[in-house]
Amino acid sequence: MMVVGIPRGLLFYEYYPLWRAFFQALGIAVETSGPTSRAVLDAGVSRAVDEACLPVKAYLGHCLELAERCDALFVPRVVSVERGAYTCPKLLGLPEIVGSLRTGRPLVTPVVDYTRGGSRAVDAAIACARRLGCGSVRAAWAYVRARLEYRTFTESLQVAGGWFEGAVAGRAETGTADRARPRVLVLGHVYMVNDRGINLGIREHLLRLGVRPVAPQWVARRNWTSGARALPKKLFWTYEKQLFGAAKHVVDRGECDGVIQITSFGCGPDSLVSEFVRREAERSRVPYMALTVDEHAGEAGAVTRLEAFVDMLARRLGDRET
Ligand code: SF4
Repeated sequence: MMVVGIPRGLLFYEYYPLWRAFFQALGIAVETSGPTSRAVLDAGVSRAVDEACLPVKAYLGHCLELAERCDALFVPRVVSVERGAYTCPKLLGLPEIVGSLRTGRPLVTPVVDYTRGGSRAVDAAIACARRLGCGSVRAAWAYVRARLEYRTFTESLQVAGGWFEGAVAGRAETGTADRARPRVLVLGHVYMVNDRGINLGIREHLLRLGVRPVAPQWVARRNWTSGARALPKKLFWTYEKQLFGAAKHVVDRGECDGVIQITSFGCGPDSLVSEFVRREAERSRVPYMALTVDEHAGEAGAVTRLEAFVDMLARRLGDRET
């Protein structure tokens, strides 16, 4: 049986349940790389240009790790997931970036592009299946099935307040339920917030410090879309719109006591959106902290900053109660 390798990075943290269900419905085995480790990061860093952001460097490391264990690497080119907006340029050029690794494995690179009547996800799925030797009708059926499964997955995250890895593994993982504890919105791209190897274990440290972390992925699409309307101009990037809209929704409804935004050094979209979010938090008098990571970032330094932030939150909440 053919084995398709799906690297555990970037949009894996958004669409893996969809991709997995699609390939399984086609009778194609799926292999993923393991969690981001120091070795994976180092391998990616050694093969990437210096200017690349940390998630792209990590992604390259995952491709190298996985190439030995699969027949083809699945590296989609996600140009646009809605009309009138795009994803980050690094996601647009991902097949070329990975191609430069010369892993010896062919790349399966479906193109998803909703702009100007371009290739929709279902077209991309059919093209991908045909490339792997499956027929169009079977591919369309597999895609519909996978889409249903994916919708159930995303709704379950929103309803139960779970986190990606736990939900994929079928574990209920809602953190502490103690309502007296401060809630902190951990804002960032899905591949920053959910990848412990990149985010320095921010969620685990917050839980240890008695904080209830809140994920932007818990905000339903209609809510972040409505939150993003507060921007003075329409943003070109869908995922950044989602981040701002989710932060606006959570902050306006008083569903968090603080915001920690985790960004990657060298990320253009993040540098713009983080400023919008900071101003929004300031306007609502919600404490905000930005944590920027790159391959040199150390966990000890991040923990010191998290502890100081949580101390400040606890004092604020204490003052409010007295
Ligand atoms: S949005 Fe930023 S972090 Fe994400 S891939 Fe693009 S440059 Fe990297």
